[in-house]
Amino acid sequence: MTNNPKILLLYTGGTIGMIKDYQTGALRPFNFEKIQERIPELHQLGCEIETISFEEPIDSSNMNIPYWNQIVDIIEENYANYDGFVILTGSDTMAYTSSAVSFMFENLQKPVIFTGSQLPIGDLRTDAKENLITSIHIAASHEEGTPIIKEVCLYFEYKLYRANRTTKINADQFEAFTSMNFPPLAESGVKLKFNEHLLLGKGEFQENLITRKNMINDVVILKIFPGINEVTVRAIINIPNLKGIVLETYGSGNAPTETWFVNLLKEAVEKNIRIVDVTQCAGGSVILGHYETSQELLNIGVINGKDLTTESAIVKMMYLLGENLSFEDFKKYFEMPLRGELTF
Ligand code: ASP
Repeated sequence: MTNNPKILLLYTGGTIGMIKDYQTGALRPFNFEKIQERIPELHQLGCEIETISFEEPIDSSNMNIPYWNQIVDIIEENYANYDGFVILTGSDTMAYTSSAVSFMFENLQKPVIFTGSQLPIGDLRTDAKENLITSIHIAASHEEGTPIIKEVCLYFEYKLYRANRTTKINADQFEAFTSMNFPPLAESGVKLKFNEHLLLGKGEFQENLITRKNMINDVVILKIFPGINEVTVRAIINIPNLKGIVLETYGSGNAPTETWFVNLLKEAVEKNIRIVDVTQCAGGSVILGHYETSQELLNIGVINGKDLTTESAIVKMMYLLGENLSFEDFKKYFEMPLRGELTF
């Protein structure tokens, strides 16, 4: 790594890339090629920044597997030529996208920082500038010639999170994300402070980058609620070609013990549908078998999602389903951290 780190900035779409036409009041896309003209402060970072944009930037509500593959392809193609990557996407699905990308890279040795903003970059009160400048700063931060961050992260409103631990929690406040089960990897105050002991990739043997691009989306999230009925659950487990269910349960992984419910889940497991239990609570962990109400789930072969977020669980499921694993291996990999996504 040189003293002028090279950073690749990829704009996929979202509010951050808009500017307001003050005459008409309308928002229009911003030309990222001109980023350094609009934010001259970027020069002070002392990096070489190159920008690239999706041909047709998207609102992140339209994110899907082909777009995730596109992001991964762009990073992979440019991996050797840059010291760090900053990916701009809309915040609405950023927790999913950044979690997905975290699973799609194995042996990552460079920073991939996702960010965006609540207000367009051209707005007077925008949060875009700080998010963007600090994300680039983080992506360029290095120590003894190697990047400090060697994983996929999400930066928003003064905090750097492990991407696959995040959830969007607020639609209008600048503090739009949180990571309930894992502390921030860095905090931006007067100084940029890294929590070095939490970072991945410290002193590990460096193997070649591997990409995983076989994600499968024959999956569903089933959030239980008091009053959920048999017709609904039966319809879900009979979705043609369904391969996986993320079951959002109560508290520490608890679900109804009614016979019809347990039997339907058992039927699904027998059909080789993989079921993972995560909690509906914002924080904390599933402890399968802790209460009688989760003992039955354990008995029938439901997998323990521990303290995974729903976002991370669904994309981990898409990733592991694409790897064609036996039930035993699928369960083993689901229940252990692959990219720091759960607490072991
Ligand atoms: N709807 C926008 C999106 O997710 C919101 C944002 O950019 O934050 O693309």
